[in-house]
Amino acid sequence: MPGEGFDSALKAAVGFRSKNIGALFTLLGENITDLAAANKVVEHYEEVLAASMDVQAEISVKPTQLGLDIDEHATYANLQRLARAAEKANSFLWIDMEGSAYTDRTIALYRRLRAEAPRVGLALQAYLYRTVSDIATLMPLTPAIRLVKGAYSEAQDIAFVRKRDVDANYLALCAYMLPEVKRRKLRLVLATHDVELIARAWRFAQALEMVRSEVEVAMLYGIRTDEQERLAREGFAVRDLIAYGDAWYAWYLRRLAERPANVWFVARQLLP
Ligand SMILES: Cc1cc2nc3c(=O)[nH]c(=O)nc-3n(C[C@H](O)[C@H](O)[C@H](O)COP(=O)(O)OP(=O)(O)OC[C@H]3O[C@@H](n4cnc5c(N)ncnc54)[C@H](O)[C@@H]3O)c2cc1C
Repeated sequence: MPGEGFDSALKAAVGFRSKNIGALFTLLGENITDLAAANKVVEHYEEVLAASMDVQAEISVKPTQLGLDIDEHATYANLQRLARAAEKANSFLWIDMEGSAYTDRTIALYRRLRAEAPRVGLALQAYLYRTVSDIATLMPLTPAIRLVKGAYSEAQDIAFVRKRDVDANYLALCAYMLPEVKRRKLRLVLATHDVELIARAWRFAQALEMVRSEVEVAMLYGIRTDEQERLAREGFAVRDLIAYGDAWYAWYLRRLAERPANVWFVARQLLP
């Protein structure tokens, strides 16, 4: 994180512009327990969209941060407000995918929203067995899909647990979706720091005679910055997800869990 406030996120986004890297802002927070807090999140993003038109930033939001644990109708109304604000700002609204308890409801919300709003996308997780059929059912909507490996702890009856199986499924899903990207029927963002996987997906894209600018990649702020810059220099469409806010604890734990070496990194910083 560049800092807890939006100002620091905006400053980071301005810095990325000269490197041809776009920004994706996310205010940390999830599982809110009252709708007034969800309303504040929507108001915050409305301000963010208005303030960041110059950096062509997009936003990404968790459904449980908009009230999904409390009231599905209110959550949808909040998504509609954000989709309208994103459209007005010529931006784009992404819906994060949370743990599997929310998958069905999140996809249903996206399906409804996409029918009435053009600039909205959804994250889908390659570790879930169901994702291939979710993509197939979403495809007629001309969707926007951000493909991630998946950050939650899921049972093996619904998800691949071995990294190599997740990676293989990620690549198979790319191979499935890239022809649709080429036909302009799908916006696909490869949200991963796995540069080897990106290179392999690029080989599929090359076989389809696609150019680098048609392949979108997104990574988290501060992770593999050199690779983000290299990919942008080579001509890929790169976006950096910049998270900010004070509700960083759950997010931070997921980042530690996906790379245990970071625990030692943090511990070393704390030692005198
Ligand atoms: C833009 C973006 C949006 C995302 N949105 C969602 C979402 O909506 N829902 C969801 O479930 N998940 C989301 N994720 C998280 C994702 O599911 C993975 O948990 C995360 O990206 C780590 O997996 P990886 O694809 O980078 O591959 P990995 O195989 O985990 O990592 C590949 C390499 O990248 C480096 N790396 C990866 N993570 C770290 C780290 N934390 N610190 C340092 N180095 C690291 C390591 O060198 C590693 O070898 C998102 C990720 C990104 C980049």
